This record gives sequence, structure tokens and C-alpha cells, in this order.
Amino acid sequence: MPGSLLIRDIHTLVLMDAANTVLRDACLYIEDGEILYAGARPARWPRAERTIRARHAIAVPGLVNTHHHLYQTLTRASPAAANAELFDWLRILYPLWARLDEESVYVAALAGMAELLLSGCTTTADHHYVFPRGSSRLGGGLIDAEIAAARLIGIRFHPTRGSMSVGRSKGGLPPDSVVETEPRILADSERLIRRYHDPLPGAMVRIALAPCSPFSVSPGLMRDTAELARRYDVRLHTHLAETCDEEAYCLERFGKRPLDLLEETAWLDRGTWLAHGIYFNRAEVGRLGRAGVGIAHCPTSNMRLGSGAAPALALRRAGCPVGLGVDGSASNDSSHMLAEARQALLLHRLVHGAAALTVADALRMATVEGARCLGRDDIGTLEAGKRADVALFDLRDVGYSGAGDALSALLLCAPARVDTLVVEGRIVVEGGELKTIALDPVLARHRRLAARMAGGVPDAPQSSSRIIGTDGRR
Ligand SMILES: [Zn+2]
Repeated sequence: MPGSLLIRDIHTLVLMDAANTVLRDACLYIEDGEILYAGARPARWPRAERTIRARHAIAVPGLVNTHHHLYQTLTRASPAAANAELFDWLRILYPLWARLDEESVYVAALAGMAELLLSGCTTTADHHYVFPRGSSRLGGGLIDAEIAAARLIGIRFHPTRGSMSVGRSKGGLPPDSVVETEPRILADSERLIRRYHDPLPGAMVRIALAPCSPFSVSPGLMRDTAELARRYDVRLHTHLAETCDEEAYCLERFGKRPLDLLEETAWLDRGTWLAHGIYFNRAEVGRLGRAGVGIAHCPTSNMRLGSGAAPALALRRAGCPVGLGVDGSASNDSSHMLAEARQALLLHRLVHGAAALTVADALRMATVEGARCLGRDDIGTLEAGKRADVALFDLRDVGYSGAGDALSALLLCAPARVDTLVVEGRIVVEGGELKTIALDPVLARHRRLAARMAGGVPDAPQSSSRIIGTDGRR
């Protein structure tokens, strides 16, 4: 039970409300995970179990990451894939990912979530779509392992049950060893929703369904997945319009552009958010806006793989919620959410000029618009009645020294590590250190698992309780 928390004397408080309110010498009061007061210094201080004095801090809503593949922290900066474009990059990495098992997914999730939390991120989605044969069983498996990691480390989590069903022998891109049968995918999706999905405000875990991409699943699975998602009122997520290669594949195999395929399989509505969305023409941007489809814009990954620049500003103007995603750690290769907001700002200024995107709007994409992509209106702003997800950055950091405006500094200066992070009223990071797990042993294990995956050091499986101590709620 988190109890009550007072954050007082805040140097700069960014509410991210509709009026873009920024306050000096402000205060947040939190009870049981909910913000009861966000505003100027009150006449009388409320009594609280914990008080944080934030005289040198800027407080912003906890950042929301809308697209990730946490398992890819095990294949960051892989030498063979360092200079490849998407399809070759995938062909190089699929055989390594075929070595994934429950333990490696669990440890990779802890490492990636730790990195996210330390960058100010309080809510993350994850798109896990690689289920090698024998790696998981119905009734327990890889997504379950990720959820256990999220609960332990204390991040708000939107895991998406990904899938691949069309392997190379059927004309798809992935090797047959990492695809599943469609009945199995649907059965496990339903199991996960029934077991974990929490639709209530303040939910710490919500499931979404996420066939991987047009070149790794069938239109039939897309349709069946949409039907299942509607039956349980959960959201839909997939990669779309990421590269010209994908567009060419769809035209050749289905005789359609990716968005037409999406519409034909009953995905084009406000229950869907899409990763990337680079290759949409003007008419398609309008259709997406009218449908209210969300976009997880992933600028670093798109630049890293040379995929292209998404029309994120046109999509926003058309009416799409546009959030930000760090994307998988093998194509970024970082899970630093504040850095992602800075990349979005710089990319769109490069393309459209310095006036095209304000600092506040870049932060808006990283917070409240990301929350909308995930179907949430209970997070993303610091207002009374919202859940208490707060990131505090120390303005005394060397990278901010001499800065005139705290909010501008946050986005324009080098992205710093968060000083204090509150998730659902619970202090998860304090003094720049994680309070929920001992990170060093996790990282030591993570490095060994990464070496094993790369084919280097043979390594025996180890029980997760030995890695993280005895507090595991697995
Ligand atoms: Zn992705």
C-alpha cells in the first residue's frame, strides 16, 4: 500500500494539461496511487507519510513508451546487423532469437525495463512475437515471464501478445522454427487476456493482441485476432508501413497496399495503434485520422535502420494520437525514453523547420499522446484524479548547468538519467538508483545470456530466483 506522498517545493512542474500549464515552486500530493492535488504551493501543507523536497527538480508526467521488443536487449549492437536495413537485419537476427527461452525473456525484460525506468518512463508496451518451438507452453510462457518482471520492478506494463504464423516455407520472412500455428496463437492470446488483463483505471497490466507484420502472418490471423480483441475489449497493435520492402511485399503477395490490407481485416479503428507508419500517402493519412488509429512513432529506429521519416506531424493534424516508441533494443539500440522525445523533436525540425514542433509538443507525444495510443486517460498528465506517475529530473545535472528554461533544457540538452520516479504512487527510483531490484546481478546474468545467444559462451540455465534474490513474485 503506497500510502501518501507529498512532493513539495518543485522548481518546475509541467502538468501537460490541455492549457500546457507550467508552474514554479509547486506541489504534488498523492494518496494511494492517485494525484489529489497538483498546483501552486498551498496555504497549508498536507501531512504525508513521505515527503520529497524538489527545489532543484523539474517534474513531468512519467513517460509512456508505446513500442518495444524487450528481448532484443540481448542482441544490441549485433556486429552482423549493425549496418543492415530492416529485411536483412531481420534475416540476420531471427536465428539468434530462435534461441530465446523463458529465462532469457525474463532477464531481458528486467534489463530493458530498468533502462526505461531510469530514463523517466513509467509505462511501457512490449511487442513480443518470437515464440521458438519448445520455448513456452500453453498455460505459462514468455509473456508470463515478462509480466512477472514488470511486477517485480514496478513498471506499468502493456504487453502485447505478438505472433508469426507464416514462415519461409510459406512465403514469409521468418524461419519456420520461430513461427506458431494460428489456433495455438489464438488460444494463448485468449488465455493471457483472461489471466492478466485489467480494464480498470490504475491498471498495472493490460494485454493487447499484436500479429507481427504483413510479411509474417496471414490475413486470416489478422481477422481472427481483431475478432478476439473485440470480444474481450482489448487493443490491437502491429507493425505497418515501416519500409518500401514491406509495401512491395504486400503489393506482390496480396495485390494491395499495407493500409488496404489492414482495413480489409477489420483493423482500421480507434482500438488499434500501429508501430512506425512511415509509408502512408496523403489520402491514407486522412483515413487513419478519421478512424482515430494511434501511431507509435519510433524516430531512432527509423533513422538507425535507414527506413525513413514518418509523417508524424501530418498524422497528428489528421487526428491520430501519435505517441513515441524506443522500438526494440536491436534497432535503437537504447531504451532511453527521454532521448526518444529529443530525437522526435530533432527529426521533425530537420524535415519541417524549427517552428514545426515545439519542445512541449515533443513531450506531449512522449506522455499524454502515448497514453492515448494505449487507450488510457488515467495517465499522461499531472492533474488531480490521475494516477500518480511522476518523473523528476535534477536540474543540477552537469548537462543542464546554465540552462535558462527547465522544460526546454529537458528536451534540448543531453538526455539525463531520472533522479526520482514514482509509479502508481510508489517510489521506484530515488537518487538515480532503482529501489525495487538489485540491478548489478541482473545485468551480469543478462550479459552472459547475450553471449550465449550470440553463440559465444555456452551457459547453463539458471533459476530466476537466484538472479534476483528471493523476493520474486513469479
Ligand atoms: Zn518494432
